[in-house]
Amino acid sequence: MVLHEAVNRAGGRAWSFHDARLDRVIDNGNHLVLSGNAEVLAHCDRIGTTPLLDIAPRAELPFLDLARGDRWLLRLPSGLRDLVTGGLRLPPGTALSLAADTRRLLCADARATVAHAIPGRGPAWIRVWEPLSLAVLNAPPETAAAAPLAEVLRRTLLRGGAASRPITMPQGLGPTLVDPALARLARRGVHLALRRPLTGLEARGDRITALRFASGEVALGPDDAAIFALPPEALSRLLDLPMPGPGQSILNAHFRVDPEVAARMPPLLGLVSGLSHWVFRRGDVLSVTVSAAESCIDASDAEAPEARIWREVAQAAGTDAPPLASRVIRARAATAEVTPAARAARPPLKPYANLALAGDWLSGALPETIEAALLSGRAAARSIEA
Ligand SMILES: Cc1cc2nc3c(=O)[nH]c(=O)nc-3n(C[C@H](O)[C@H](O)[C@H](O)COP(=O)(O)OP(=O)(O)OC[C@H]3O[C@@H](n4cnc5c(N)ncnc54)[C@H](O)[C@@H]3O)c2cc1C
Repeated sequence: MVLHEAVNRAGGRAWSFHDARLDRVIDNGNHLVLSGNAEVLAHCDRIGTTPLLDIAPRAELPFLDLARGDRWLLRLPSGLRDLVTGGLRLPPGTALSLAADTRRLLCADARATVAHAIPGRGPAWIRVWEPLSLAVLNAPPETAAAAPLAEVLRRTLLRGGAASRPITMPQGLGPTLVDPALARLARRGVHLALRRPLTGLEARGDRITALRFASGEVALGPDDAAIFALPPEALSRLLDLPMPGPGQSILNAHFRVDPEVAARMPPLLGLVSGLSHWVFRRGDVLSVTVSAAESCIDASDAEAPEARIWREVAQAAGTDAPPLASRVIRARAATAEVTPAARAARPPLKPYANLALAGDWLSGALPETIEAALLSGRAAARSIEA
């Protein structure tokens, strides 16, 4: 079995590297998973990295409203007893509308955007629905499909605290999710062929018969099969099928700070009413995520996004000192388009009898996440084996 990869490293959109400017190992972008992401937990269990996961003891997230200075805690109870003893904490002013909004979101049809499904524009919109749409769908609620957000809620927050505990990976995405998986594949005899972009395929009838690479062709025998786990723009060059277009970018700004400043920050902080959306603390590095960056960054603003993001972090951490070093990484088209029309334009999962498609954007109901990528990969493998 051969795993062909276009670039010189595995991991795709989830990878870690040593950044010389920060002199720290960082991830290309902050990744958050929740304890309800059963497939991520199962993956880490299989590859032996469960001890590397930092699973928060409670399902709670602190938030700061940068414009008003308000701070609050979002906390979900871990059971009935916890609920009765005050374990549920919601953002201020949201309690009345959240239940009705959630019902509307869960009932929304496949053509609805988040903004169509949820009519109110009060505190719950600013403090829950807009941040959730940006974080989970990497798209503003006005364009993002409601259905994938509803599916994430069903699998995590609506199952209570046990399925909603934040999980981070202090050692980085590479050491936690990728490198041990490659080692496991190698032990099972899988050959990893790097810098080998697939450029075409040959097909006869309902089967593909060869894979084309710059370095030559690989013929497929009658018992051979392939899985293409590719982003839509790469797949569109190989198959003449409808595909979603590119979605928005995600900007991550990493700041190395004095350890005392870092220690004032929680491991994870949600921000509203500013440019920054989340601050992750890893050692003495504070890493900020701006999702759907095209929608959020005003191109006419004279101030560079990095300077504005740092001001917001400094406000949250209560410091006047500048960062010791910084690095900004923009992941262009970090996810595929997630409008209702784009979701409907996804190709069939088995275009040929011996070819299955995988990738986070093809996992059915979920949006593009690690959980979705793993689920879709396993489903593709099962469909090939069947
Ligand atoms: C900045 C950022 C932040 C994110 N935050 C989160 C988060 O908080 N939580 C979360 O769960 N998810 C998050 N995600 C999404 C997560 O990274 C993806 O869902 C996941 O990595 C997708 O995996 P995949 O294997 O489906 O696709 P990819 O990771 O895109 O892998 C596709 C692979 O195909 C290769 N390839 C492309 N063309 C060819 C070709 N022609 N031949 C051979 N190989 C090819 C690519 O090089 C790549 O390695 C984030 C993504 C980004 C970019």
